Amino acid sequence: MDPSPLFYQAGPALPEISHAQGVYLWDDTGRQYLDGCSGAISCNLGHGRDDIRDAMLAQLDRVAFTYRTQFENAPAVALAKALVGLTHGQLEKVFFVSSGSEAVESALKLARQYFVARGEPQRRRFVSLRPSYHGSTLGALGVTGYHPLEAPFTDITIGSLKVAGPDFYRHTDADDTRHVARVLADTRTAIEAAGPDTIAAFVLEPVGGASTGARMLDRAYLEGIRALCDEYGCLLILDEVLTGIGRTGAWFAYQHYGVTPDLLATAKGLGAGYYPVGALLARADIVETVMASGGFQHGHTYAGNPLACATGLAVVEAMQREGVLSNVAARGRELEAGLKALQARFPWVGDVRGMGLLWGVELVADPVTKAPFPAEHNYFARIAALAKEEGLLIYPRRTLDGLAGDHFLVTPPLIIDAADTAELLDRLERAMVRFDREVAASAPA
Ligand code: PMP
Repeated sequence: MDPSPLFYQAGPALPEISHAQGVYLWDDTGRQYLDGCSGAISCNLGHGRDDIRDAMLAQLDRVAFTYRTQFENAPAVALAKALVGLTHGQLEKVFFVSSGSEAVESALKLARQYFVARGEPQRRRFVSLRPSYHGSTLGALGVTGYHPLEAPFTDITIGSLKVAGPDFYRHTDADDTRHVARVLADTRTAIEAAGPDTIAAFVLEPVGGASTGARMLDRAYLEGIRALCDEYGCLLILDEVLTGIGRTGAWFAYQHYGVTPDLLATAKGLGAGYYPVGALLARADIVETVMASGGFQHGHTYAGNPLACATGLAVVEAMQREGVLSNVAARGRELEAGLKALQARFPWVGDVRGMGLLWGVELVADPVTKAPFPAEHNYFARIAALAKEEGLLIYPRRTLDGLAGDHFLVTPPLIIDAADTAELLDRLERAMVRFDREVAASAPA
């Protein structure tokens, strides 16, 4: 075989997928996979849907592309209205993009321009969590807290003030309430030291993604951050690139907590793997301030093109029509029960955390001390490889910052049914039995 010109990752050549339907994919050797991670937590409605294809084809037949400053675009207006509706009108303005990184990047730039327009140009810094992931472009990477990704670029990114969020698995405070209070107090101290009037915005994921193994925050923490932002006059940006559009069982994860952001970035599930589309949602007065100062100095060629927005609209309408959020709740409970049963069985499953159909499983060498496995074992990759051999795709990572250890995400398409959820758990169990034998075999005598 000719060497591939693509350079996405080091490693052996990958099989190619020949076709896919629902939660299953088949490669060119005929091997079948259950998509336990929705690709990159993006194929939220499963594969091969006629309704999405029909909506896309109908739009293609009309027009695929018009430029946003030249023509009105009915699918874009309709999708924007639908998104505003999903926030119950709390965020009234929408700016479309094509990816999660672009959505975060847009949020950072809008926050900055807002303060310039208000005569507060000294507000040019951002606060974010370590660990966190906000995207791969230089702005979004600057607020990302994940050393392996940051390292080559720290000199050329905007950077941010990185603070620790709560860690409900490893903290050693007296209880969760006191832990959250301490984390908030530490955050306040860090912001005071940095100069609160230099801060434009606090950026965070309401439920962590791959870099944290679905780190959970809680209501008290988010209320505390909201209160800090209000006190210091900076904006709260929620990165719902991964959690938005139903992943956690609400349209947006913030709705579980009753804490409303000023700006919200979303992407992945909006196009559901059918077409790239993301969005920045914003409070109306922020947008009006920026528009009154001459407009938002930002934009991408493909932003909000008709085909992208027709796809996003078809996704949202399908989810509403089929009551997908109640399926997320029901299947989420089954997945949680199944993963916790596996945790009870295998001592190296240290933590199972998440909500809806976003679950993280963390692996530890010692469940009492919660010590991670030695990094050189690369167990995160090994368990994913075993799962793949058992016909199951999961999303593995190893976090080196703060939250320690190997982990993987289980994030199946939001339309998965009860039988396939059980099948997912069966395949995971088979992979875990094999992994357990390997761990036992390599343990020191
Ligand atoms: N923010 C979060 C929370 C994400 O999970 C991701 C993607 N993993 C991004 C931003 C970046 O999105 P994209 O890869 O579409 O640029």
